[in-house]
Amino acid sequence: MLAPQGRLFGTNGVRFIPGVTGDMGFALKLSEAIGTYFSEGEILVGRDGRLTGQMMLSSVTAGLMSSGRNIAEADIVPTPALQFSTKALGYRGSVMITASHNPSQYNGVKVMGPDGVEISRLDEQRIEKVFHDGSANKANWRDVGTARPEPSVIRTYLNGIVSKVNAKLIAERRLKVVVDSGNGAQSLAAPYLLEALGCKVITINSIIDGNFPGRGPEPTPDNLRDMVVAVRASNADLGVAYDGDGDRSIFCDEGGNLYWGDQTGSLIADYLLERNPTSTVVTPVSSSQVIEAVAKRRGAKVIRTRVGSVDVSRTIIERKALMGFEENGGGFFPSHIPTRDGGMTTAMILEVIAARAAPLSRLIAAAFPKFYLTKTKVPIDPTRVREIMRAIERQGDGKVEKVDGVKVWVDEKTWALIRPSGTEPMVRVFVESETKEKADSTAKKFVKAVKSA
Ligand code: MG
Repeated sequence: MLAPQGRLFGTNGVRFIPGVTGDMGFALKLSEAIGTYFSEGEILVGRDGRLTGQMMLSSVTAGLMSSGRNIAEADIVPTPALQFSTKALGYRGSVMITASHNPSQYNGVKVMGPDGVEISRLDEQRIEKVFHDGSANKANWRDVGTARPEPSVIRTYLNGIVSKVNAKLIAERRLKVVVDSGNGAQSLAAPYLLEALGCKVITINSIIDGNFPGRGPEPTPDNLRDMVVAVRASNADLGVAYDGDGDRSIFCDEGGNLYWGDQTGSLIADYLLERNPTSTVVTPVSSSQVIEAVAKRRGAKVIRTRVGSVDVSRTIIERKALMGFEENGGGFFPSHIPTRDGGMTTAMILEVIAARAAPLSRLIAAAFPKFYLTKTKVPIDPTRVREIMRAIERQGDGKVEKVDGVKVWVDEKTWALIRPSGTEPMVRVFVESETKEKADSTAKKFVKAVKSA
């Protein structure tokens, strides 16, 4: 059996390259351990549109059924649709076969509890223990699980979103929206969501293809030129691009200007906080300081977490927060589900545009001051991470935060976040400041400090 080395679960589920770092024997054995962990009830299973998805679906359902679990198959659906339906349709849990925004060779699994939220780190370790000590249930022929199709996941998801926003107000505006699904799973949901909200829809890269021929599975401001061109050419009000499994969304305004997720996230937060003042918003340490400016104005509280969507979800639940967001395009709305959802985030942006009756460019400009973010990474010797981080800490004469990596405040409006990468021998350097020059020069200073440490 070919299986990944060391721990199986990473920051966001189990990931591997089928046929290279793991095989279907591994996927089956892992799924027997997952089925054993659930111990009872029916498990919902879905997948994204990857080339290895159908093969993985066969192995995962075989493993779950072999452990005695009954399963319901949703086939290709966005991750947030599966998560929402797990809860809405009353399943014991769910398994999503996905590698999110990773390149096409990857695949993996995410495991959700009955609330549709990723299981805890402790529960991941329980599954790993069953996997490693070979104690999974192996049902005999009489007791193996049953399988049936579950065709209502996308319909349930779309109805759920439409019920949580002011659909009538959005529909009255007849907004024109360009959707770039990146050949991923939102191809099957987002265009229909926008139609249900009365929008005129133009789709690009919206045929499911596991080779991701359009622009790759990860939307970043550098690879969304086609969407920007389509928005300008069609005089659209908005462009939206999703990652491979549809939980992240990146937007451009009517002029084709692209925004990172912390800018659009802060705009939605401003809108929701106006209606729900003194609430809490959750975001990782890497997001822009504009959310603090927004929260201060609305009398609200911001909680900063480690970088990672599961940390944001768990903190939202614990602190009963109003919403959460990530700079990479994740938006979390617990009135819907406390996990990130590109479809729900899209509906919220449409509601802000409709309710404030202004184009997105003007709403962003009016909501908060402009800041500039510089991101870079520096290769390092991984055995020297501690020394490097200690040296960086000494660079700050003022405030230093250590939620994740080291965040040094250089002056009142300039911070640098230095974080060791979880997956590569690199440290990531993020700097935000009032001017691009200041952000770039501060980043240079910290890159030099990392190198000389
Ligand atoms: Mg994703």
